[in-house]
Amino acid sequence: MEVRRTAPVKLVVPGERRDDLHESARQFLHCANHAAEFCWDERSYTNCVTANSTARDALYEELRAETELTANLVQEAIRRAVQATKGVVKRWKQGKRVSQPEFTSWSMVYDKRSATFYRNKVSLSTVNGRVECEFELPADSPTPYERYVLSDEYEFRASTLQYDKATDEFYFHITTRKDDDDESEGSADTGHQTVLGIDLGVNSLAVASTGTFWQGDEYDHWCREFEKRRGEMQQRGTQAAHNALLRLGKREEAWRKQYIHTVANEIVSEAVEHDCNLIVFEDLTDIRERLPDAKWHHVWAFRRLYEYISYKGPEQGVSVVEVEPNHTSQRCSRTDCGFTHEANRQGEQFECQKCGYEVNADYNAAKNIGVRYARKRKHSLRSSPKSGSGDAPVDVRINGGMLNGESYQPIAGD
Ligand SMILES: [Zn+2]
Repeated sequence: MEVRRTAPVKLVVPGERRDDLHESARQFLHCANHAAEFCWDERSYTNCVTANSTARDALYEELRAETELTANLVQEAIRRAVQATKGVVKRWKQGKRVSQPEFTSWSMVYDKRSATFYRNKVSLSTVNGRVECEFELPADSPTPYERYVLSDEYEFRASTLQYDKATDEFYFHITTRKDDDDESEGSADTGHQTVLGIDLGVNSLAVASTGTFWQGDEYDHWCREFEKRRGEMQQRGTQAAHNALLRLGKREEAWRKQYIHTVANEIVSEAVEHDCNLIVFEDLTDIRERLPDAKWHHVWAFRRLYEYISYKGPEQGVSVVEVEPNHTSQRCSRTDCGFTHEANRQGEQFECQKCGYEVNADYNAAKNIGVRYARKRKHSLRSSPKSGSGDAPVDVRINGGMLNGESYQPIAGD
């Protein structure tokens, strides 16, 4: 199993160099969209370009000439478009509705050559030479360089530079990955891990495997209120109403973010209070397809929640990982059962058709998410001759107890 870890780090960008980053991001976006256009063919997925080398050979010279970006940034922009096209082609093959990938958000990908790490700063290539940005970190924390780039456990992949318009701040999201076969991510000596599973659901915003719920009622209520106010202003149609609408939009976004920050802090605290050193989520990539009934403001909330927790967690010694979703809502989470069937879940209620176990559906899913990680890890530890930690235990915190990694019944396809 591949484990990815992303740590957002706030950057101190010299005032006079901010425009260089903005302009670089604009040109990066141009390259990515140009490449996406090249890769796409609406007639058939067999005509779409999904090989990075094909796209790079065709576009590299042209994009270098058209922009002031360095070689590696142009290549990363092309790679991003190819990756997105691959994802779309995969969904197309499954018969899902698809369209040409389009990039709109402020985001650039840096590899090891376009970003050079130092202990307390990173040097980034831009359209106007390099810019050195210091990391904004608490004095006693290990620097991102020590933590991720020098890490033996994790392989540095690439990082994305992002800009948060609301706060006018730049963040460097450092991404590392490893094939989870011989690592000990838990306490260094024993490799022991205690997992908190988190389900992001339709009924509740989030549910932990410990049985704690974040209902999100207040969130829904305020989203509806904002919606209503927006509707009223749109009907008036005057310039004043239009301006008020813009102000309302900003207020709403700030309010939403604040709300999600609070939930993120509470989830990290939940992990710390239960001695968990790992929070496990389901991969959010296809969340739109998996939760067709989810409201857009929930999907927005899920992504933010994951993003916030992935940088708040490590500050408290809690890592964050994603597992591929695999029928976690249909599987019975009782250790001696594990029966998986569509009919097990009916709305908010879970009732196992085999053993009769009845429980809240989101809580059942949260346990399964933790269990899924534990099982995968157990399996890879056993099959790895390199494993120094032997049968390092993985436990999942549940309501009133613990599940350990031994007795799980596999889900088909595990
Ligand atoms: Zn059962």
